[in-house]
Amino acid sequence: MLDTLQKVFGFQEFRSNQEAIIKNIIDKRDVFAVMPTGGGKSLCYQLPAKILKGTVVVISPLISLMKDQVDAVLENGITAAFINSSIGKKEMAAVFNKLRSHLLELLYIAPERFAMQDFIETLKEIPIALFAIDEAHCISEWGHDFRPDYLSLSNITKTFPGVPVAAFTATATTKVQNDIITKLSLRSPFLVRASFNRPNLFYQVKRKNELLSQILEFLRAHPGESGIIYRTTRDDVSYLADTLSRHGIKALPYHAGLTQKARKANQESFSRDEASVIAATIAFGMGIDKSNVRFVIHADMPKNIEGYYQETGRAGRDGAPANCIFFFSRGDIPRLRYFIDQISDDKERAIAMEKLNQTVRYASHNVCRRRQLLEYFGETYGNENCGACDICGDIVERIDVTIDAQILMSAISRTGQRFGIGHVIDIVTGVNTKRIRNLEHDKIKTYGAGSHKNKNHWSFIVNELLAQDVIYQDGDRYPVLKLSEKGRKILFGKEKISALKREETKRSIATKPHLSPIMRPFLKGSAPSERDWLMSSRCPRI
Ligand code: ADP
Ligand code: ZN
Repeated sequence: MLDTLQKVFGFQEFRSNQEAIIKNIIDKRDVFAVMPTGGGKSLCYQLPAKILKGTVVVISPLISLMKDQVDAVLENGITAAFINSSIGKKEMAAVFNKLRSHLLELLYIAPERFAMQDFIETLKEIPIALFAIDEAHCISEWGHDFRPDYLSLSNITKTFPGVPVAAFTATATTKVQNDIITKLSLRSPFLVRASFNRPNLFYQVKRKNELLSQILEFLRAHPGESGIIYRTTRDDVSYLADTLSRHGIKALPYHAGLTQKARKANQESFSRDEASVIAATIAFGMGIDKSNVRFVIHADMPKNIEGYYQETGRAGRDGAPANCIFFFSRGDIPRLRYFIDQISDDKERAIAMEKLNQTVRYASHNVCRRRQLLEYFGETYGNENCGACDICGDIVERIDVTIDAQILMSAISRTGQRFGIGHVIDIVTGVNTKRIRNLEHDKIKTYGAGSHKNKNHWSFIVNELLAQDVIYQDGDRYPVLKLSEKGRKILFGKEKISALKREETKRSIATKPHLSPIMRPFLKGSAPSERDWLMSSRCPRI
């Protein structure tokens, strides 16, 4: 194996996990590997292609990249070809001929081929060494990138019982991971979950107010650096690229509305460092192999943490420090909510909504960004201070919330840690309900102690305390709030707690009382709170 690595690929040593994965593949065992972008997944199936008898079939959704990948392995002296909708009949016949004559070590195909019976019959005729499924999360409805085409892969182990299957992804929560393994019916696979930590990436969330000047300020402080700026809409992408160019920055746009030729040309100029900045929608980046990307900016709210992490993962693949900046504004929530509301499937819509909330929480809490990201992927981060995020680096604006935390925890504690979020907030704000009176919770000292602030504020405090592990929820069906050790220290004044300063909600709206509250979030320039949105009729589910 090492010999092949050095002679064929020209690398000195294996990266972590590569060797174990390849060994298991050679032993004909199924593999499920989660490795971060840039972790070196391709080598795990390319190297066995050189060693094993038979063809390694790689299933990948990235049609536009197949040619590049094949060209790259051909250069290494591996016989390879690809089949997808972009090639003509003649070319396809030639590939099949090679395949039947056992002349291909590596074959890349698009997933939809698996829905074609004659293709499957052809595969059955030839010796296959391995099925490698790239971007395997595409098979899961729980992932952010579900592709119905991938479902046709669910029969693969049944149709080809003697062939090992190796599934690879850079993005899988435990839920998605289990889903992939079940859907593909992997047979007690060798499991690899590489750490997702990317120590050289600096994570920062900035309050978005004057976006353009904020971006320009950053670019001027980092002249000539190569970077990606993500925006949600095509119009915003084009406008940003134009504006940056007018300011003397070599910036190009990339979105699905451009012709394929233009997209390719722009991506290539970026790859060759002719353009330093690419302004793009999330259509950009899957599979891009540019190692010196020094920054990834999210100028609008990303839809979910998986996508966000994968996009930021395109920075610093060379291992040198790189910046990941997320310009956060609650004003971005309505637009994303609008898209989510268009999803017709109830389950899918609820998932999308929960994912959006997770992104908002990531940006809002006074908790190490790296810890939050890694915890999202089911990884516990041991260090107190990561040394490379705005929270740990202490470059955020904070407010002390010790007193509010004490009011809330006092209500929790005085009612025996037996009540849920809604009820505790009712006590603190002094709501006069039958339940409160029956339980005599209007008699406790903290009743109404927080009535000078609204419920929105108190639910923010609850969420912050939960995020900082000061309180926790116990019980599945009716979760109740309890204090942690840290919570007790704060309650008894031995420790303090702070939260991130939140953006101010603009006042102008309050001066127009004739507008219905439902309309408020749509007003230009308004920054509706999450709560406004949850309460508005556009969101009947919550
Ligand atoms: P992934 O598919 O996991 O995002 P790739 O397979 O594209 O990552 O690998 C990322 C980069 O690392 C590529 O440029 C690849 O050539 C390089 N690489 C892979 N394995 C090794 C290794 N053992 N030593 C050095 N470089 C490697
Ligand atoms: Zn940190």
